[in-house]
Amino acid sequence: MRHLKIKNLNIIITEKSDGNMKDPDTREDFLKKTGLPVYIPHQKHTAVITTPEENLSPADGVFIERKVFAGGVLTADCMPVVITDFNKLVVIHAGWRGAVGGIIQRGIELFEKPEELTVFIGPSAGKCCYQVQNDFIEMFREKGLPDKYFYRNSGGITFSMQEFVKDITDRYGIKNLIDISLCTICEDDFYSYRKGDFSERILTLAWLEE
Ligand SMILES: [Zn+2]
Repeated sequence: MRHLKIKNLNIIITEKSDGNMKDPDTREDFLKKTGLPVYIPHQKHTAVITTPEENLSPADGVFIERKVFAGGVLTADCMPVVITDFNKLVVIHAGWRGAVGGIIQRGIELFEKPEELTVFIGPSAGKCCYQVQNDFIEMFREKGLPDKYFYRNSGGITFSMQEFVKDITDRYGIKNLIDISLCTICEDDFYSYRKGDFSERILTLAWLEE
């Protein structure tokens, strides 16, 4: 488990050694130890952000407007993203579908002063390993998005979700982007869908202290 603290923001990221967080019993046991109320959305690669009160389903982000209440997302190669002004926070599960669908922008726009936000990018498929095919590149182009996020290497073409998200935060004038810079595909500590962990997930939890 990794535990990061930035001011009153706490982020916990589970590793393989903590168990499969997609398994309800394993997850419940783990969450009990935190002692926090937690909301995890019913994820389905959407661009929907819910609140614990609304409980929209499916949703791939949760907006938490209280302190000492955690939001969580389950991932394996997709990107966990935390957006906060240190009073409220959003936790997002961003695969390429959600990211291209605008879920990061929606998360940012829940706050009045985007330029003052801190954005955290968790362990996810990196440009070192995130191979994509021509149909993906074509879809990207059809949406009018630039080619600069694609890299040609010996294995084919890879995509940088990290740079894609960084450009979104740049457009809002966000200076505080923290990228943990851990690729789930080549770092053995994390589950990776692309490496065969189809039903395993890591959990990213974030909450604000008083
Ligand atoms: Zn990698």
